[in-house]
Amino acid sequence: MKRLLIIILLFSLMLVGCGSVRVTHSEFMMDTVISYDVTHSDANALIEECNNITSSAEDLFSAYSETSEVSTFNNSGRLIIEDIPEIYDTLRVALEVWEISGGAFDVTVFPLVKLWNVTHSENDWIPPTDDEIQSLLPCVGMEKLMFDSYQLTRVPYDSNIQIDLGGIAKGYTLGKCAEYLTENNAVGTVSFGGNIALVGSKKDGSLWKVGVRNPLSPDALIGTLSLESGIVAVSGSYERYTEYDGVRYHHIIYPKTGYPAESDLASALVWMRKSDAYSGAYADALSTALFVMGHDAALELYKPYSDFEAVLIKTDGTVTLTDGLAGRYTAYEE
Ligand code: AMP
Ligand code: MG
Repeated sequence: MKRLLIIILLFSLMLVGCGSVRVTHSEFMMDTVISYDVTHSDANALIEECNNITSSAEDLFSAYSETSEVSTFNNSGRLIIEDIPEIYDTLRVALEVWEISGGAFDVTVFPLVKLWNVTHSENDWIPPTDDEIQSLLPCVGMEKLMFDSYQLTRVPYDSNIQIDLGGIAKGYTLGKCAEYLTENNAVGTVSFGGNIALVGSKKDGSLWKVGVRNPLSPDALIGTLSLESGIVAVSGSYERYTEYDGVRYHHIIYPKTGYPAESDLASALVWMRKSDAYSGAYADALSTALFVMGHDAALELYKPYSDFEAVLIKTDGTVTLTDGLAGRYTAYEE
């Protein structure tokens, strides 16, 4: 038995040359499956450090764990963040994406996320009433948060102002892992659910191939992208949803109405060209924002930017690529 285990282990560690070893490994953290495929002479140690990065991030960011820093803020209205650059960094990106998306991405949507409770729904789930939704709308809006590199507070008169970094924290953490792997000259991919980091260049010089899920039939791919290193994040109504009376309710809220976003998009994919924490956070927040905004507004937002590209898939199956993806997308034949 022991021998068999050693043989299996040897097969799973594929020798790639120059002392480099290719290691694949999966974990479940931050409410999602994390898959590593890393080539490096010390790949196992690098993966372990990425797990440490992710585990600390989970402790900070989870809005559903009473002991997280985010919950400390939500419960008390104040958080000293001078020693928690992770919170400051994500809030800065969140604010930037909130501004450029006209409020479509808004981390103060947490009271509504809790009210809808789509992500943790049980069989007896029912949608909230319109009165309940309307009563929480006044606590939504990032202008109600005040933060600098020292502390995070909220406007004093409303204790219902609470944050949920669930639309940005996974990407930020993935980016931190990618940054660490890049600094150590590793090559490979790390995927956090729908988000994927492409680290370094493949030895044979070919581009990374990233499958694009068909949001209308999520077990199948609709195409593939050929990309250099960077971070890819995807948001879609198919990711987490529940049903009541034959109607589907997904997990991404339109902050202006308090209801799940009625987007003409089924999914929005964003590719940032760098493999670092900022790019991870930006890609994650932006993919959520583009999904909420819908096709035309998402393309308007894209126009002045050159540091990201997007694949927008409409609910009728139409695929729109931004200019920088020309020649990089191959559609799957039916
Ligand atoms: P993602 O899967 O990255 O699109 O993020 C979705 C998660 O972000 C949800 O499960 C909520 O926790 C949170 N969320 C929902 N709606 C919004 C929104 N409009 N802006 C920011 N975060 C949101
Ligand atoms: Mg996101």
